Amino acid sequence: MTKMDRRAFIKCSAAAGAATAFAATGVLAGAQETARGQQGQRMALLMDNSLCVNCQSCRVACQNENSLPIKEKYIRFDYVDSGTWPNVSHHVNRHSCQHCADAPCVDICPVEALFKGPEGFTHLDFEACIGCGGCQMVCPFDVPVISDEPVSGEPKMYKCTACRHLITEGKKPACATTCITNAVDYGPWDEMLSKAEKRVEVLREQYPQANVYGKTQQDGLGLLLILRTPADEYPHLI
Ligand code: SF4
Ligand code: SF4
Ligand code: SF4
Repeated sequence: MTKMDRRAFIKCSAAAGAATAFAATGVLAGAQETARGQQGQRMALLMDNSLCVNCQSCRVACQNENSLPIKEKYIRFDYVDSGTWPNVSHHVNRHSCQHCADAPCVDICPVEALFKGPEGFTHLDFEACIGCGGCQMVCPFDVPVISDEPVSGEPKMYKCTACRHLITEGKKPACATTCITNAVDYGPWDEMLSKAEKRVEVLREQYPQANVYGKTQQDGLGLLLILRTPADEYPHLI
């Protein structure tokens, strides 16, 4: 698809969906602006990829917690090999919604199925989604997956919802409570960033290019990543 085709698709889909939403709700306010106006402590998920042993417990816990069809996954993994033999290393990175502070998916969604919570995560109203694919076209991290809903057969978008049903009750997201190596954490954004920066200082003794990813990208990410190697080695990071 060319850039022109892509723009036309987004414009067309957005317009069609917006008309549907307007008829249904009578309101089409900027969901992102509304959320930004709310008060709330900014929270974050922290993924320490240097601790991950890729057992996929978080992925399975997420599927169970969110009643996902077996083939749908909110958490995927990327694998990267670095170095030159005999000094080679293998790295893993969690690929899931990065919860951009400035989230283009929220701006493009014609039916407000995507919206920002006061804690900064990008939430998904699965019922409202019409599966138009607009979010998929604009996500810089290639996260949204459009798939048919198993019972109705209607196209729907699948992505991490930050376990909204848990965090609004003051609980941790499922992936942050199941990791066997404590690679996943959840807490106030500033605390998670500080924890990540301290961890990276230690990692740099062995991996000089270790870094924290997410401090500045898209105005700051709700999913912070600890990487042992530069971000440009990972296929879904920008
Ligand atoms: S990573 Fe993609 S789906 Fe997630 S908030 Fe950012 S733009 Fe939206
Ligand atoms: S696929 Fe769903 S969530 Fe994505 S833009 Fe379309 S309606 Fe919104
Ligand atoms: S925060 Fe919840 S929905 Fe998101 S990946 Fe973790 S378990 Fe899944």
